[in-house]
Amino acid sequence: MSVYLDHAATTPVRPTAAQAWLGAVTTGGNPSSLHGDGRVARRTLEESREAVARALGVGPSEVVLTAGGTEADNLGVKGLYAARQRSDPRRTRVLCSPVEHHAVLDCVLWLEQERGAQVVWLPVDATGRVDVAAARDLLEQDPDATALLTCMWANNEVGTVQPVAELVRAAHAVGVPVHVDAVQAVGWLEGSLSALGADTLAVSGHKLGAPVGSGALVVRRGVELEAVLHGGGQERGVRSGTVDAGAAAALAVAVAEAVAEQPVESVRVAALRDRLAAGVLALDPGAVVRGADPGEPGARLPTNLHVTFSGCEGDSLLYLFDAQGVSVSTGSACRAGVPEPSHVLRAIGVGEDDARGALRFSFGRTSSEEDVDRALAVLPGVLARARAAAARVAGTVAAS
Ligand code: PLP
Repeated sequence: MSVYLDHAATTPVRPTAAQAWLGAVTTGGNPSSLHGDGRVARRTLEESREAVARALGVGPSEVVLTAGGTEADNLGVKGLYAARQRSDPRRTRVLCSPVEHHAVLDCVLWLEQERGAQVVWLPVDATGRVDVAAARDLLEQDPDATALLTCMWANNEVGTVQPVAELVRAAHAVGVPVHVDAVQAVGWLEGSLSALGADTLAVSGHKLGAPVGSGALVVRRGVELEAVLHGGGQERGVRSGTVDAGAAAALAVAVAEAVAEQPVESVRVAALRDRLAAGVLALDPGAVVRGADPGEPGARLPTNLHVTFSGCEGDSLLYLFDAQGVSVSTGSACRAGVPEPSHVLRAIGVGEDDARGALRFSFGRTSSEEDVDRALAVLPGVLARARAAAARVAGTVAAS
């Protein structure tokens, strides 16, 4: 039996969500068609939208269905920027945390390169948490020239939870809208989205047990957003393209279940995470847990444990774990096959050497104590081999 500890990358589809998807795609037509089959699909779509909205604590008209988190982030960041520019071209500043997922980070960098945006990086501490006082100062420096602030709710790599409610309050106090990437947070952190008050907020289905390619952008009532995809004008003209009623049906089931299970599951999964952390540190006292303190309530995703091990490469650890049937992640995708420290670890001041041995374990609803025990059972052998491999490479380099 393999042990899956990479739920932050994607988590298995819930059987209930798969059923909902199958039911929707094997009946009905195009939700925009006017005939009976189209109306069946439209009903599925609108009921699903209502269910997503109910679970997220927002109104159905505030849910724009997308094909996943990346698209929702693109629409939120680029859509807000374009709308703010249209009403006042002086608004070029984009305040952004430096630990965003590439789905946001690369939108912001694209706006800088192609649309004349001035990116202002929000300072973060050694856990990756944004400094709210510094953010407030930066907001107050030039609110009239600020298009938006964007900050994730919880970090996908090191698990740190951001003070998003405080950032939203600070930004709204000076009239600046906020995009929140909630992809890793929904279903794991408490707090209703309407209480959070973000202007746009991205959700991804496949992190919750819906299929890859399902997702939503919550767009609060009255928020102006320019479309990124143009075409048939679906989703009130904000997101053209035939709406995927099957994905919507699966998303509705998965979000509702994840949110309902959150109070119990987040505690259960945090205990697994803590058991793994304690086991890792007992086996390798030199290992360093990165990100926010798991002991500080609400500071860290219950699903995430990020560790750096000395004297070895994260990639070696990943492959050696894999050979033992344990799926983990280095936490960052290497670009063009070249492993390099992630922008998140760089932003929180982890040096290149320390960043090398980075490994992310992430939990989900199928995780069990047996998974933790198996990972800990193979860890000493995995570490010994990874360190031996690193020592061999260092010896070869020194001799050449
Ligand atoms: N934002 C965060 C924080 C993520 O972790 C991910 C995926 O890993 C995304 C955005 C992108 O979501 P999707 O895979 O649905 O495009």
